[in-house]
Amino acid sequence: MSNNIEAKVILMDSPEAASIQTLTGWVDRHGRFWGDDEYQARWCGATHRKCKNKPDEHPIHSTHGYCEECYRESRQAKFAEMERAVWAGEPLVIFDGDQYFFDAESLADYCRENSVFPKELQLLICEANYPSEFDIEQHCQEIIPDGGDCYSLPQEILDAADALNKAIKESSAVSWSGGDQVAIVSDDILTDEQKAEILAERAA
Ligand SMILES: [Zn+2]
Repeated sequence: MSNNIEAKVILMDSPEAASIQTLTGWVDRHGRFWGDDEYQARWCGATHRKCKNKPDEHPIHSTHGYCEECYRESRQAKFAEMERAVWAGEPLVIFDGDQYFFDAESLADYCRENSVFPKELQLLICEANYPSEFDIEQHCQEIIPDGGDCYSLPQEILDAADALNKAIKESSAVSWSGGDQVAIVSDDILTDEQKAEILAERAA
């Protein structure tokens, strides 16, 4: 490095090289020094914190996690705002759960096992998932010669890709996922006998 000012030489035993100072600052529970960053020192030294939205109502939670009660409330608010539609027999899934029902009978069984009525369950109407179509041009774009297009590929491969896409278009649903409509399901999918059984179980 070129410098007009001659660099000053300071030997290690010179008082100028170092001196003892007293520092004031925040130190966390593990002994790490954070200077004037009190918040960070407290965050590192703590295991739990109060909910920032409702500190007096919600339980404390881990500093590395989030308030589960706030999360639950926000999900319930989302559910309350969702569109409602009368159930027409589509597969159903419990909101934020992985319990699926593919017919009224399995829903009725679940209600009896858990002593709940269909109206009390938060059920979403499922939407069908299909395989996405195969894009041969995108699949081969790195090897197609410059200036070429998918017609540079052997005809047998193009035909096979067309056949695959035809099969995909004609396929039935591969799986189902909860959609954005809440199912209005009548308790009358249960027989009077089943309803009485649930009420009796609850009273017990
Ligand atoms: Zn909270």
